[in-house]
Amino acid sequence: MAGPRDWEAYEPRRPGMVRRVLPTLLAFAVIIGGLAYLGGDLRELLGTAPGSPRSAAATHRLYQETGPVGGRCGTLPEDLDADARTSLKALAGCLDRMWAATLEQAGIDYEPPEEVRLVDAPEEAECGIDDYDWAGIYCPGPRVVNVLVEGERAFSMMFTLAHEYAHHVQEVSGIADQRGSETFDEAWSRRLELQADCLAAATLRGVAPRRLEDLRLLAGRGSGADEGVEAGYRQSHGSGASSAEWMRRGQEGGTVGSCNTWAAPAERVS
Ligand SMILES: [Zn+2]
Repeated sequence: MAGPRDWEAYEPRRPGMVRRVLPTLLAFAVIIGGLAYLGGDLRELLGTAPGSPRSAAATHRLYQETGPVGGRCGTLPEDLDADARTSLKALAGCLDRMWAATLEQAGIDYEPPEEVRLVDAPEEAECGIDDYDWAGIYCPGPRVVNVLVEGERAFSMMFTLAHEYAHHVQEVSGIADQRGSETFDEAWSRRLELQADCLAAATLRGVAPRRLEDLRLLAGRGSGADEGVEAGYRQSHGSGASSAEWMRRGQEGGTVGSCNTWAAPAERVS
């Protein structure tokens, strides 16, 4: 999705870019922090804050009315690494089918993203061009999923695709209004991102379980990025341990209901 929230933990980063945008980000964080400080108590009191069982996102009907997401993806090539683009295109088709079937159970019409754009460089993306170092980004307005095709690790890119698709599902289902019906702050961002990790794992668990397991262990060990970068990422996306934990929930539970980060207490989305 748009904004500084969407670069992935699983790809090598470009510290130079991060250093350039860090001052802007820090200023942004101070403003957001101030708003959160003022608004948090009131929302807590009303029971509508994310993390409260009564918040709109936490009680969405998708959590109750849908069964397991996914299933196998018969159109994937046998060797996922032979050509990443072929694997990603096939997976996009599978994700459309999986999510259409799942949302239908709750009476929600699924519409595929307007475009799935596999880019060689961030400049080719629909949004987020000047933002950040990202492996994938979802642009909620035009509903374009962008994935950077880079490196050898096809499954890592597939996870990114599934994660960005999850943002699309958050958007079309109304689980999380990404333009902020609930006040946007970093805690909100972590719930959004960790839910996307969980939903991505739910969709991929039948597709390539062993590779998903490997990726989850990798996420749990942290990214190996330098500490300043790591801290910024953790603020908006959650820690490696939290990400791994929500991936485990998605992989084991396999349902949207397993991925309700909006009802989870703050320490589980840290
Ligand atoms: Zn994301």
